[in-house]
Amino acid sequence: MVNPHLPQPATLRCLHIKIEPEVVTIAVESLAPSGVCPLCAHRSARQHSRYLRRLGDLPWQGRSVRLLLLSHKFSCDVSACPRRIFAERLPNVTRAYARNTDRLADTFASIAFACGGEAGSRLARQLGMPISPDTLLRTIRRTHIPIASTFRILGVDDWAMRKGLRYGTLICDHEQRRPIDVLDDREPETLAAWLREHPEVEVITRDRAHCYARAASMGAPQAIQVADRFHLMQNLQQAMARMLDHRHPQLKLAMRDVAGRDPPTTQRDEERQRDQERHCDEERPNPTRANLVPRRPTHRDVRRNRRLEKYEQVMELRHQGLSDRKIARHLSIHRETVGRYTRAGEFPERATCKYASKTDRFTEHLEQRWKEGCHNAAQLFRELEVIGFTGSYCSVRRRVAHWDRSYGSSTTIRPPNMQPPSARRLARLLLKNPADLDKRDRSFVDALLERCSEIRSGTELAREFAAMVRGEGVETLDSWIQRAWDFAVPREIRTFATSLKSDFDAVHAGLTTVWNNGLLEGQVNRLKLIKRQMYGRANFDLLRQRVLYTG
Ligand SMILES: [Zn+2]
Repeated sequence: MVNPHLPQPATLRCLHIKIEPEVVTIAVESLAPSGVCPLCAHRSARQHSRYLRRLGDLPWQGRSVRLLLLSHKFSCDVSACPRRIFAERLPNVTRAYARNTDRLADTFASIAFACGGEAGSRLARQLGMPISPDTLLRTIRRTHIPIASTFRILGVDDWAMRKGLRYGTLICDHEQRRPIDVLDDREPETLAAWLREHPEVEVITRDRAHCYARAASMGAPQAIQVADRFHLMQNLQQAMARMLDHRHPQLKLAMRDVAGRDPPTTQRDEERQRDQERHCDEERPNPTRANLVPRRPTHRDVRRNRRLEKYEQVMELRHQGLSDRKIARHLSIHRETVGRYTRAGEFPERATCKYASKTDRFTEHLEQRWKEGCHNAAQLFRELEVIGFTGSYCSVRRRVAHWDRSYGSSTTIRPPNMQPPSARRLARLLLKNPADLDKRDRSFVDALLERCSEIRSGTELAREFAAMVRGEGVETLDSWIQRAWDFAVPREIRTFATSLKSDFDAVHAGLTTVWNNGLLEGQVNRLKLIKRQMYGRANFDLLRQRVLYTG
């Protein structure tokens, strides 16, 4: 029952203990011979009377504990003091007018900050100290959270109150590694006003968004701004993904190189190949999966057909000579989509992420048996087990789930139509050390770089920049930007270089100083957890208190 970390009520004497199934009642009396007047601070030993206080205390073995505290009233001896009689104060036991002991109030506060109102109330009841959710919320609002008033190294990041609609700003101190303030919008003026009250700030870490760059320039011009390394890498990968997205035909040709199929050499060959593929697509609705057995149409196939229809409409209108903007308006689709379709040269398949499956090694056997008429997944699973399959029944069932049951041996088997990886995945592959890639990825990357000089020059520059993020050759940043402005470099990388130039000092600081926004990413995650714990009903003031409270 007694927590050794809390100050002990040394001035109380136990008179009587009554134990009932639900409640333990302890009668205690105060032993203080004198009290200090709260108004004039004069000590008085002249006892006026005694009175009874009822206080909640920490539970004992799951039973609520009630203290019946016999306390003194003293008379004030100072004639000028307006307070004639005062109740004695009991420091470390309880406060004036309080209904609980200090240690119970502290426990309630800890529960409230950890769990919030409703969940905290349920937990407290289970622990034998019932309290209402509203009282817990009042406890959160009332608690004073001590925060230092001066900071040198700050980080800022935004967080979504309601995604896409309303955002706030989180400010953390890198030296104490804790949040120090939460603002309820992400306007540059708000943060700038906050920063003006803290002229001692020396370093501000931030992401690459313009609003915080502006806020820091306005509110703390003396501070060094640091663009976060992680966000620099992210921007680079996004630029590369855009570059690859706009060069989809080259990706497909490189994939064909890897697959060992000769790329079409003449215009006519290319047309013939395209016709063949369209024919394949009609029969086998989704060619992105490399199954040899025909499949029944799935939802994905339906969506793909819808996209194909749109693509054909776009190309039709393009042949009629309409501009991207007009086509977009006519078909009610985004102009960027129209651009992607017209640049692609052929229908851009949606890349799917193909994970390796234990059934891959047994594809041939599965297809052979399927052709022979065995369409029972359990039977196929048992057969595979005999020849060394270690995967689960479910993986076999998934594998054959959409295969066409009417498929017979008369149908010809076609080679798989290989799809290049998605632009995002490919961007990551290109930035990796080639020695770390598996054989298939490496041969695809090599084929792509050999085939397309634009992607090659973009990748070389991107790899150099990634090395700078790792701390190698940072002094060449300026010359890197100059080289990236060359017209032989893909437009997307040039745009990225321009964005670096416009934020040069912060980018340079991001690559050379030890500070980054990792702390903020973690704290924003914590904020999201607290917000969702409150089922999205988090009032800003409550959320702010709980984020700032670090226990
Ligand atoms: Zn007094």
